[in-house]
Order: sequence, then C-alpha cells, then structure tokens
Amino acid sequence: MTIDELRDQAAECTRCDLYRNATATVFGEGAEHARLVVVGEQPGDQEDRQGRPFVGPAGALLDRAFVDAGIDRGSLYVTNAVKHFKWTPRGKRRLHQTPNRTEVVACSAWLTAELQTVTPELVVALGATAGKALLGPTFRVTKQRGQVVPATIGDWDGSVVGTIHPSAILRLEDPDEREDAYGGFVDDLRTAAAWSA
Ligand code: SF4
Repeated sequence: MTIDELRDQAAECTRCDLYRNATATVFGEGAEHARLVVVGEQPGDQEDRQGRPFVGPAGALLDRAFVDAGIDRGSLYVTNAVKHFKWTPRGKRRLHQTPNRTEVVACSAWLTAELQTVTPELVVALGATAGKALLGPTFRVTKQRGQVVPATIGDWDGSVVGTIHPSAILRLEDPDEREDAYGGFVDDLRTAAAWSA
C-alpha cells in the first residue's frame, strides 16, 4: 500500500472518538522512502484547519531546527502519533489536550502502517506521547532523549531516538531557558542526522 492509499483510508477513520470534534484526519507527508521519519504528538489548531502536519508555530520552530541541524526537510517524512486534533474550548480558542493511551493505541495502526511503507533507518520521536507510542509506556523523555535505541514496530525494524517536542520550547517564558532548550533540541536532531546519514 502507498502513503496516498493509507491517507485516503485514514481520512475515513472512526477508530476512536477524536474524529468527532476535529476538522479532518491529518496524515503524514513527505518523502515516501525517507531514511529519517519525524513523529510528533498530534495535529494542533493550524494543522487541523489546514489538514497538514507541522504547519503551525511548533512546525515553524521545527523547520528552523532542521536548518540549524543541517537536515533537509524535503528528505524527511513527518507525521504524528495521533492523527486527529484533541482539544477543549476556552472562549473562542481551541486548547490542545494530550491524547490518552487508548487514543494513542487506537491510532498506532496508522503509524505502524506509515513506518512499514516508508521503512526509515531512524525515527525521531518528538515528546513523550510520540516516545511512548514508539517505545512503550515506560519511555521518559527527560531520561532517554538523545539515545538511539533499536525498535520493532509491526514489520518495521529500525531505531528510534527521542527528544523534546518543539511546543515544549515555545511554552518556556524565560528567554535563556528557551535558548538552552532549543540548543539541546538541535543537538538531538544533529545526532539523528549523523546516525541516519
Ligand atoms: S485519532 Fe487516529 S484512531 Fe482516532 S479516529 Fe483519528 S485517525 Fe482514527
């Protein structure tokens, strides 16, 4: 099956309740046989409206980090562990809510299918939700970030490296803390780039 065929199937997915309040399934996109796949948590408000992953503020930071880490975004496949936006209303805004384990497990069939199709050398897990989806519920981003570990997911055999999610950097209010966190994030991406070169 191709990524386009998987995307068409996922557009109709009702495997968990998250499709009810979201605009559309936001499937992965990018190079169909990328050596490096990047997995985030779930689409945000902008991604939900545009139907594409990493097109909001976190995506802009991620693009900047790719440049600083020497990674060509065109060579990558980017996706999320969960394909529908989970949110709660706050006035006129839609506030992000972390998907629960049941939702992550329900959506893992799509992530597995993406990995089996793209067959990357290495997957970068952005944040705890993606790390747990790929490496199991004991994954701790604070302890395991930057460590490349072997992983088997469905029929895909490869490796996974965890790091923080760019949204976590954007939430930091102190400029120095934010710059430090960004530097560590770029270092982790450099590790991934070197490993998968
Ligand atoms: S979040 Fe995933 S499993 Fe749930 S309905 Fe959307 S595509 Fe299906």
